[in-house]
Amino acid sequence: MKRAVVLGALIAAGGLSLAVSAYQQPQGPKTVEVDKVKDNLYVLKGGGGNTAVFVTANGVVVVDAKNPGWGQPILDKIKELTPKPVTTLINTHTHGDHVSGNVEFPATVDIIVQENTKTNMEKMDIFKQNNGKGMPKRTFKDKMTVGKGADEVDLYYFGRGHTNGDAFIVFPALRAMHAGDIFASKNMPLIDSNNGGSLVDIGQSLQKAHDTIKNVDTIITGHSATTMNWQDLQDYATYNKGLVTWIESELKAGKSPDDIAAMGYKVPETLASKGFTANPPSLMGGMKGMVQGVEAEMKK
Ligand SMILES: [Zn+2]
Repeated sequence: MKRAVVLGALIAAGGLSLAVSAYQQPQGPKTVEVDKVKDNLYVLKGGGGNTAVFVTANGVVVVDAKNPGWGQPILDKIKELTPKPVTTLINTHTHGDHVSGNVEFPATVDIIVQENTKTNMEKMDIFKQNNGKGMPKRTFKDKMTVGKGADEVDLYYFGRGHTNGDAFIVFPALRAMHAGDIFASKNMPLIDSNNGGSLVDIGQSLQKAHDTIKNVDTIITGHSATTMNWQDLQDYATYNKGLVTWIESELKAGKSPDDIAAMGYKVPETLASKGFTANPPSLMGGMKGMVQGVEAEMKK
């Protein structure tokens, strides 16, 4: 729950990223923890969303850059892992706990995001305050490939979910992927409707990712402490489709968002037994906000 609160606070504050970071970050050293996922793939934890570090023949590809002030700690930690320069930075989506560190990366670094995420980032104060430093230089719509052979990185977009620009970043040679916050944990999703997110669509988008991407067995999620596997992605698609089906059926039966929020969602036993939970997000209106989002889409 603590993570959800911090994540939600960042998102809810939107442009007030400086105020939020002051509130949200304790004073003192910014400690980045390293998990080795493969010989040349690491997860850097702490200070916001999970950061992936992929060491290629000629340089380092980084996925996500954490909260304000955490860009330099990421760069310092990478120096302990490899002498190679950072060449590429990919952001999974627009949120402040995934993109704010961008402004601390060298101007030479190529920054790539899904095209809707670039539009969302253009609204963020941190990039305005830094005269556009850290903004994406390249975008993709549905798929992009960077590098080749052992160094290939594939970027995919499968539709709305946590936002309207959630990228899945695949490292084919390592059978590994960073899923960002469209798969942040085995809990209820956080749906950022102000940035185009959709509870109605998230299950389908996750299902398309599962059915389209091949040969991956290790998933770095947006925030969980450990990696997930390919079956977990299928289960999370199933979870979200079941959640929205339940909300839609209760709305059709005449229940109000307040009624439905009070009832709470019961995770099917097949998923509960695998560790899936139903704690509503603590911000963005919580469970009621999620139901209202579905209600608004049903009226369209
Ligand atoms: Zn997010």
